[in-house]
This record gives sequence, structure tokens and C-alpha cells, in this order.
Amino acid sequence: MNNQLFPIVWLKPKKEQSLKRFHPWVFSGAIHSFDKEPEEGELVRVISSQNEFLGIGHFQIGSIAIRIVSFQDIEIDDDFWFRKLQSAVILRKNIGLLDDPQTNVYRLVHGEGDGLPGLIIDYYNGTAVYQAHSIGMYLIREKLARLLHDVLGKGLVAVYDKSDKTLPFKADIEPQNGYLWGKSIEKVVREHGNQFKVDWVEGQKTGFFVDQRENRKLVSDFSNNRDVLNMFCYSGGFSFCAMQGNARLVHSVDASSKAIELTRQNVELNFKNDSRHEAYVADAFDFMRDIKNRYDLIILDPPAFAKHRGALRPALQAYKRLNAKAFEQIRSGGIVFTFSCSQVVSKDQFREAVFSGAAISGRQVKILHQLTQPADHPIDIYHPEGEYLKGLVLYVD
Ligand code: SAH
Repeated sequence: MNNQLFPIVWLKPKKEQSLKRFHPWVFSGAIHSFDKEPEEGELVRVISSQNEFLGIGHFQIGSIAIRIVSFQDIEIDDDFWFRKLQSAVILRKNIGLLDDPQTNVYRLVHGEGDGLPGLIIDYYNGTAVYQAHSIGMYLIREKLARLLHDVLGKGLVAVYDKSDKTLPFKADIEPQNGYLWGKSIEKVVREHGNQFKVDWVEGQKTGFFVDQRENRKLVSDFSNNRDVLNMFCYSGGFSFCAMQGNARLVHSVDASSKAIELTRQNVELNFKNDSRHEAYVADAFDFMRDIKNRYDLIILDPPAFAKHRGALRPALQAYKRLNAKAFEQIRSGGIVFTFSCSQVVSKDQFREAVFSGAAISGRQVKILHQLTQPADHPIDIYHPEGEYLKGLVLYVD
């Protein structure tokens, strides 16, 4: 559609600064008026109080009212979306991901980091899982699925839409998950040579925690001859890297029985009849009540304890308590890999919570590595909020 015909959104005076620095969000409080009320998911033109063009974005009702898809005044046609998807694919190609024979699972589109705010696409050995976080990206899902096929060609066998839990529940749409294009047969993917059965229909997120790929690899470097606890294991990603790295034993723990079932199936795919591995369904805080001197490598990769700002304080408390439990009980000379994937928890806040946990334990704790998300989860330099995964590798004397 011709970009001149989109509804116009005028901002209040002085509210254009962040857009001029290419930050892609317009908060509802910055809006002065519309020329005509946009529908949810519709593209709008954002104009400053001085009548300057600022950008074109998807409108929706909520705190983030507009997500900018173009800072240029250009037509938003199929070619525009094709080029966006193509540059996301080219980035992955340029960092070597597409040609890695050991890995065929990665993030293909990472929202703002790929100039496509509101959209996540993960790639699973031929199947793309499409997850819209904005109404605008949901409404164009069929078009984008088709264009993704144009970009990837034979590399794509299916696109599955899994947006039912990521769209604002107040919106007047009833998303149904399902295939947008093609149908997958193959549901086994490879990461660092390990195979994983991925269940994008029933599984958590898009089916796999793609963002821990590099950190899993680092775990294998620290695993030799160690007894490993992989807490919050989901489908067992860290466990298999620990086993690849010659861990003595690996215990995978998750509160979800479905996750443990997946882990067990994945053990069969990679380490059949390997007696080093055990999996347990248990709550983290219960399991860690009494693990004194049982492990010398502990991985803590909990779900986002804070999903919004209001939950920040209790989340920081939970990180502190969880980490304290690990520091108090790990064997001397042990290693803790600890993570936070909460977007609202900053790197410094997380580090402080871990620091407080260390102080409670009274142990000597040293930071060996500071970890983040991998390169297929790029952070738009103008949108620092995109940096969400934080991790520390710690040595406990
Ligand atoms: N480390 C995983 C991803 C972890 S996601 C990977 O590499 O794939 C967080 C996991 O924590 C989920 O599988 C969820 O089921 C589990 N979980 C949530 N609350 C929990 C709790 N209180 N105790 C144990 N596991 C929990």
C-alpha cells in the first residue's frame, strides 16, 4: 500500500528525539493525535510536532503504541519485506551459521535486532517457526511466510505460526497456531553435533532455547571429569555439551515433566544407554535444598523471573537465593554457570543479585567469563533493550 495513504500520527512536542536516534518504539504517552484512528496492526506514518517525517510503523493499543519498521519514507510493499527478510538471512550467512555442518538450528529473525520489531523466527532444520509479538506482524504472517520461502528456496520446507501466547490478549483476534506454508516431517535438529527432537507445537517458546548455543559450547570446555547439575534443563542442551566434554555424571532437572520427557528422548538420540545421565522432575528450590558437595559444575538457567517491571524486586531476590544455594553447596574448585533471560533485569542488577548470593554463602567467588546472547540474536545498537540474556561463569574456591 502507498505509504502516503497510511493514517498519520502526530507526536507531542519534543517526543521525536528517540526516533531521530533510530529507537524503534513510540510509547502511547508520546502521541498527540491522529488524522484518522488507525486499526490495530495497521501501518501508520509518524510525524513530529514540527511536521517532520519520522518513520512508518505498526500501530497497536498498549504502552508501546508503534513499532517502527522504516525510518525512511518509502513504500512498504512485498519488495520491502523481502529485503528485510533477505538481510536477516544474509547476516546469518555472513557469520557462518548457514554453512555449519554441526548446527542447523538458529534464530533467523530477532525482532528489533533485525529491523523487524515484533517478529521472531527460529529456523529448525528446514522449518521456520514464526512468532508474532505484535498485531502488525501477526496480520502479515502469510505474506511473510511466502516471502521467506522466496528468500530461502529449497532451504525451507514449512513455516509454522506459533503466536497464540505472544500477542496481547486484549486484542480482538483469536490466534490459532498452525502451518502457514508447507508441512514438516523432520523434527530433529542438530546443534554442535548433538541431536534434539524439537516440539514446536507443544514445546516452550518456539520449541527450543536457541539463544544458549554458544554458552552450551563453553560448558563442554569446563566439564571434563566433573559432576554436573543442569538445573532448568528444558530439553537438555547443556547436559549433552557437558557429556561431550567428558563429564563424570550429569543430572538434568526441570519442574516440567514434558521437559524431562524431551530430555530423555534426546539422551536416547545422542548418548544411548550412557549411565552417566539421570533426569529428574523437581522444583529447583526443593532439589537444591540438599546437594552439599555433590557437584562441581552447576548450571542455573531459570525462566525469566521478571516478565515486567513490577516483578523486578522479587525476581532479584529469587536470583540471589538461587545462586546462594549453588555457591553454598558446590564442591571446592567448582564452576557455576548462571543466567538471567529477563529483559527488565539489567546486567548490573543481575550481577549484584549474584554478588549478594555469593556474600550469603561466604565463599570466595571469581568471575571467569561474562556471557550474553549469540550473534544470531543481534542487538540493534539504537535499541539497547534488545540485550536480554546475561550470564556469568564463576569459580568457587
Ligand atoms: N536451559 C534450558 C532452557 C531453560 S528454560 C536450555 O538450554 O534449553 C527454563 C526452564 O525452567 C523451563 O524448562 C521450565 O520448565 C523450568 N522451570 C520453571 N520453573 C522451574 C522451577 N521452579 N524449578 C525447576 N524448573 C523450572
